[in-house]
Amino acid sequence: MIRRLSHIRLDTCWRLLLTLVGLSTGACENPRPRDDVSHDQRPSTGSSQASSTESEQSSGSESTEEKTSPPESPSNDTESARPYAQQRRTMVREQIAGRDVSDNQVLETMRTVPRHRFVPEEWRSMAYVDRPLPIGHDQTISQPYIVALMTATLDVREDHRILEIGTGSGYQAAVLGECGAEVYSIEIICELAERARKTLEQQGYDNVHVTCGDGYEGWPEQAPFDRIIVTAAPPEIPDALVDQLAPGGRMVVPVGERIQKLEVLEKSEAGEVERTELMPVRFVPMVREDD
Ligand code: SAH
Repeated sequence: MIRRLSHIRLDTCWRLLLTLVGLSTGACENPRPRDDVSHDQRPSTGSSQASSTESEQSSGSESTEEKTSPPESPSNDTESARPYAQQRRTMVREQIAGRDVSDNQVLETMRTVPRHRFVPEEWRSMAYVDRPLPIGHDQTISQPYIVALMTATLDVREDHRILEIGTGSGYQAAVLGECGAEVYSIEIICELAERARKTLEQQGYDNVHVTCGDGYEGWPEQAPFDRIIVTAAPPEIPDALVDQLAPGGRMVVPVGERIQKLEVLEKSEAGEVERTELMPVRFVPMVREDD
């Protein structure tokens, strides 16, 4: 899965692999305690038609390849009639632990965050399926597996300050917030930023801060960041984001246009930067404010 770049030390690749399979010190070390897991309601049934969008999705294995687009309309099968907490457990077992993420803290976090709250109502019955889903404005909420994979790769700790580019629905930000980190998330579509801010507030994530703006500039007022996660694909890693990454920090970012690779960028204490390619992916493009 991991291809070595010429200037990457081998031990970096091993450390990343260990993180993914959960043998490192543990990504997302201190999940935030929550008491709302048992308060889940049963899903509503969706019926309206939503537009099909270019999706964001892993394309690295046969099992995920055919799911590169969000579905064209919501469905309501037997699985979606089960309580949300139960659907989350199945999601984690089959889509996440069943693949290559086995970090227990990340799995627990994915069992906890109420993904259906971040999905538009007409798609709620499909909130826990193995796909990205439309959230309006031709954007998607990430596939659960990709959220788990990126969170595991980040190796989040409670004392981390994290920058996210591409708030979208706010779900990835909530997962990072659930780990106890202070999260700063930037979304270029102000309506999405506003909606995500409200959802996060309603769910009690007061450690997640959302702003509307262009992620190419980063968030200089809040820098430096221990971790940076980019959930839209820039053609090249923006310099401002590298500058705003703290020494010893790590960034996870999909890079490329038609062909994209999920990359990990690590900055040493001395400020040297190393990049590792993880896997081929397909994310929505990271656009510029004047696009
Ligand atoms: N993390 C999101 C999914 C992200 S989809 C979630 O959990 O739901 C990618 C998002 O990146 C979209 O909402 C898109 O509007 C946003 N985006 C694209 N270019 C951007 C930029 N330059 N700055 C900030 N956000 C951007």
